[in-house]
Amino acid sequence: MTFAVTVLGSGAAVPMLFRNPSAHIVNVHERLYLLDCAEGTQIQLRRNGIKMQRIKFIFITHLHGDHYFGLIGLITTFHLLGRIAELHIYAIPKLKEIINIHLEASGTILRYPLIFHEIDPDIQEIIHEDEAVTIETITLKHDFPTCGFLIREKPSRRNIRKDFLEGRKLTNSELQGIKRGLNYIDAYGNIFKNEEITIPPPVPRSYAYVTDTAFHEPIIPIIKNVTLLYHEATFMQDKAKDAREKFHSTALEAATIAKKAGVGKLMLGHYSARYKYLSDMQQEAQNVFPNTIMADDGKVVLID
Ligand SMILES: [Zn+2]
Ligand SMILES: [Zn+2]
Repeated sequence: MTFAVTVLGSGAAVPMLFRNPSAHIVNVHERLYLLDCAEGTQIQLRRNGIKMQRIKFIFITHLHGDHYFGLIGLITTFHLLGRIAELHIYAIPKLKEIINIHLEASGTILRYPLIFHEIDPDIQEIIHEDEAVTIETITLKHDFPTCGFLIREKPSRRNIRKDFLEGRKLTNSELQGIKRGLNYIDAYGNIFKNEEITIPPPVPRSYAYVTDTAFHEPIIPIIKNVTLLYHEATFMQDKAKDAREKFHSTALEAATIAKKAGVGKLMLGHYSARYKYLSDMQQEAQNVFPNTIMADDGKVVLID
């Protein structure tokens, strides 16, 4: 089952020729979740061959422009393309006002239902749940109310062993029962224990999207053991003072969080425009947390 992240923008603040500001598409079991929607997101969706009408859920970390300036355009394009399916947006209440002002000013009455879910970045809670995932907020330390998002795949059910099924005809409700963990009793009263006739499902995977934030250790227990952590690294350690003043992180700090949280893999991003090449930054992080990769526009990372 698919669980993958496509990086649509890996830069901070100012759009550059080869680096757009923040937006990630997360595909879990072919459902698409958009995290942040910076300027240029529509073009990046097209460039990466992602069918934008399949996006049903959008989550905005905070209202600095490099995280949502593409949203009004995307909402309008959905309308122009004749969308009728619901669109759910999760963000602080202020964004609802901003969207409404734009729609009113342009006299747009959307053809589709736009459902706004108000979130409070100061509260760590589950804000969304469907068949594939739960999504919870991660309170961050920035100079504006900000939260990251933690996407957890729901555990799948147990798989029935093929050799057990051979030569047996089970009803649908018997099959469903076994997948839910029940024992099986055949017509002669023989009992087959569930653990002997099934294989445990794969361990559920998870993705934590952490941007923008200063070094903030309280997130460690929340993101403990996630499969992939995306953590902003706006600066390198020689600019630690800038990072502190602007409530951003360095590569070394991001790697320290990854190490302390015992995550599977770390991906850095949200780079300041001052860093044209990223090998030194990657090295800085790898010295602390070796399994560090660098986000790049168009990069697809499989979570496994
Ligand atoms: Zn930012
Ligand atoms: Zn910011």
